[in-house]
Amino acid sequence: MKTSLKIGTILGIPIKLHITFLLILPVFAYVFAINPAPLGFAEISSATSKYAFSLLTTVLLFVCILLHELGHSYIAKSYGIEIKDITLLLFGGVSSMGEIPREPSQEFKMAFAGPLVSFLIGLVLIASNLLVASYVSGYSATSTYIMFSILGSINIVLGIFNLLPAFPMDGGRLLRAWYAKRMNYVKATHYAAYVGKMFAFFMGILGLLANPWLLLIAFFVYIGASEEDKSTTVTVLLEKYSVKDTMSDKVASVTEDMTIEDLSKFMFENKHLGYPVMKGNSLKGIVTFTDIRNILPHERFGTLVSDVMTKDVISVSSKDAASEAFNIMALNNIGRVLVIDDGKLVGILSRTDLMRTLMLLNE
Ligand code: ZN
Repeated sequence: MKTSLKIGTILGIPIKLHITFLLILPVFAYVFAINPAPLGFAEISSATSKYAFSLLTTVLLFVCILLHELGHSYIAKSYGIEIKDITLLLFGGVSSMGEIPREPSQEFKMAFAGPLVSFLIGLVLIASNLLVASYVSGYSATSTYIMFSILGSINIVLGIFNLLPAFPMDGGRLLRAWYAKRMNYVKATHYAAYVGKMFAFFMGILGLLANPWLLLIAFFVYIGASEEDKSTTVTVLLEKYSVKDTMSDKVASVTEDMTIEDLSKFMFENKHLGYPVMKGNSLKGIVTFTDIRNILPHERFGTLVSDVMTKDVISVSSKDAASEAFNIMALNNIGRVLVIDDGKLVGILSRTDLMRTLMLLNE
């Protein structure tokens, strides 16, 4: 299922709205409409302007979150890091990027850019609101004043919240960058993740006593810290190996005109879940178990591989580092990549292959 919708491109980065964002939009607008000033429009007598301003404030709030993410992306791009997209979702924004800079000073600047943007927006809005209010009498009772004061204060809170020293918040990255100046990268991530987990633990206790929302955030922070720790360790370990070292070079392939019924038999016999689709020596696409999983039994004889295969094949070169293949798979949420050298298919690399290599390394 497609869970996000592309709305445009900024700085060459696709901007997407996640389905959870579209669900939360009216909730936010409603909260702003029923809250009293200075954090809501409850006192505004006209119902039309009350709801119009509540909705406008919500939309602008997400524009501010987008600007925060673009702050990170802008610096990242200046270091040559590829940003795949920025997605706005329930809890804010997420930039998915290929690789996080291993140079501590670069990671530091990149992580700090987002909160800096939030602080700047917050300060500018609050200061200009106060300035206008001191010249124009009655301004502080208007919807415009309330809107800018809500946006100003939320941006300041966002800036502070993101500086909390815990993954997946920006503060977690700042902390890792600080450690990474003093020790190797894996160890630095380990320490930063540990601080993040401790933080989540205390936030959780506070949540149990005071506010169930904190408990939920604590849960996300804990998961975020553990994930970062794990994926960094894996990436650094896999950097020492090339794709050639870890891939399978005996590639079983299928043809476009095979039926899904035959393909599922073939998968069962060959015990792999994904195959390149070949026509003679040229590669036409890739077909995986996910592509055929939802096809009903009676449709399996009439549907061909060419109807369900993915034509935009994501590939790596056999000389690439195994860690790069791992990042590409994680970023695109796929289980395998084809290995192509000079237009020729030379192998296939799956997550299972990478996990096997890691297990052998741990032995
Ligand atoms: Zn951020």
